[in-house]
Amino acid sequence: MENTPISNFLQTIISDDLAEGRVAEVVTRFPPEPNGYLHIGHAKSISVNFGLAQANGGRCNLRFDDTNPEKESQEFIESIQADVKWLGYEWSGEVRYASTYFQQLYDWAVFLVEQGKAYVCDLNAEEARLYRGTLTEAGKNSPSRDRSVEENLDLLERMRAGEFDEGAKVLRAKIDMASPNMNMRDPILYRIRKVTHHQTGNDWVIYPTYDFAHGQEDAIEGVTHSICTLEFEDHRPLYDWFIESLPVNSRPHQYEFGRLNPSYTITSKRKLKQLVDEDVVIGWDDPRMPTVSGMRRRGYSPTAIRKFCDMIGTTRSDGVVDVAMLEFAIREDLNENAPRAMAVLNPLKVVLTDYPVEQVEELVTPCHPSREDLGERMLPFTRELYIDADDFREEANKKYKRLVLGKRVRLRNAYVIEADEAIKDEAGNIIEIHAHTIPNTLGENPEDGIKPKGVIQWVSAAHGERAELRIYDRLFNHESPDKGDNDFMDHLNPESLSLVKAAWVEPSLKSAVPEQRFQFEREGYFVADRYDHSSERLVFNKTIGLRDTWNG
Ligand code: ATP
Ligand code: MG
Repeated sequence: MENTPISNFLQTIISDDLAEGRVAEVVTRFPPEPNGYLHIGHAKSISVNFGLAQANGGRCNLRFDDTNPEKESQEFIESIQADVKWLGYEWSGEVRYASTYFQQLYDWAVFLVEQGKAYVCDLNAEEARLYRGTLTEAGKNSPSRDRSVEENLDLLERMRAGEFDEGAKVLRAKIDMASPNMNMRDPILYRIRKVTHHQTGNDWVIYPTYDFAHGQEDAIEGVTHSICTLEFEDHRPLYDWFIESLPVNSRPHQYEFGRLNPSYTITSKRKLKQLVDEDVVIGWDDPRMPTVSGMRRRGYSPTAIRKFCDMIGTTRSDGVVDVAMLEFAIREDLNENAPRAMAVLNPLKVVLTDYPVEQVEELVTPCHPSREDLGERMLPFTRELYIDADDFREEANKKYKRLVLGKRVRLRNAYVIEADEAIKDEAGNIIEIHAHTIPNTLGENPEDGIKPKGVIQWVSAAHGERAELRIYDRLFNHESPDKGDNDFMDHLNPESLSLVKAAWVEPSLKSAVPEQRFQFEREGYFVADRYDHSSERLVFNKTIGLRDTWNG
């Protein structure tokens, strides 16, 4: 990937730090908690962290912030690594885990106790809440606050040894119960959790909190710019307090930017998990999910996702970004890069009565209108074809620019034809069209000067392939499905998926490989399904329509 110059407030900070010699090399990190799949918001964070490192000749670590073993799993660890790679980024060195620093973090906790800056507290959760005070009212000191260093060291060691039950004791920093910043009111450093950890097994029964772990992990790794989202702004004084109070050998700084919240989308892992658990979608990588793996299966390209992340900028405000901007980036990329093909979703047979029964013309056609490098494909033209039933009417006014009885239409990349007769079944349904070709109209207008009004797609009945098309649309039909009182489950779009079991597609698509993207002319962009598509069973997912039908 090329190093695109970046211009935002974070780059300004970094440029100053480099110019003033405050940092020699820019080191960032992307620190996901492995408790779900990555989503579009994480893609933004990845592009910010990896992008800034890249643009400044630095490096970016991938670090699993695995301090809450209950909700974490190996499945998530693996999916996150695959997603970061797929997005096109390479982390520096090995994957890192907060859990590999557990001993160091514990040693630093002991250090704080020795310095009189941390204590073991016996208040239960409810009592601690009452002692904490409110935004307008100072908190009260815990009765455990003045324990001696010796007693605290002993109790901490016994917490670690598993002598106490979950919730019986916590280790807290001794800062200021009257601080206007609630995060500074003797925050918790360690909790007792008697659960097996996916990396450290049963080595630990106490686990550090995010606040106690994060900055110290940054310091251990030599991170210079620890970039996170705005909700951590109030935690920064605590981040700095730990860095100043501990004998760490580097001094990371935290910077915050506004979260990405696309409209019509939810980006909470908890809520995404609910969609999976309640079978609203088929999994984390359902093509309707805003997860990286869902977008991948939907046919979004990593380039387009990165482009979108750049396009929306990086600022210190938490606004909603119109999801149409993401869709615009997707369309633009596909328009440029997706080979064209023809598919008929609702097939109606056309018999060209003048065309010889055995004849097959091999029409060689470019795959893309402007990209010669995408090559050519062969379209077999035969007496019997399929067109879309919506592209034929017995009668129509002038606005209808498709096939009408007695009128002409151009078959895309092939002849102009004229419809003669609609054959019907006993119930009066049209089952077949009889038509004839207009001679010498391959790439030429009819010699008699009667030009067709429109162009429609078609597939040879003898040579076409059957395909399953999964037509996806937005998962939610509400702009902000989980804002305020909205229950996102009430705003599911009932039309987010419809199946076309037996479309006809041109024969070249038999050689499509999983994840290959196409524009099915006049229908939209499609991708061969990553898992279900094969040359024996063609399955395509609709990525997006040719134009925005939501914003008119
Ligand atoms: P959730 O709140 O759903 O649990 P999270 O933010 O806690 O998500 P993490 O795994 O901790 O998820 O996130 C890893 C990194 O990605 C963090 O630095 C976080 O700030 C960033 N991130 C998460 N969501 C967004 C978002 N919507 N926009 C930008 N960055 C985000
Ligand atoms: Mg988090």
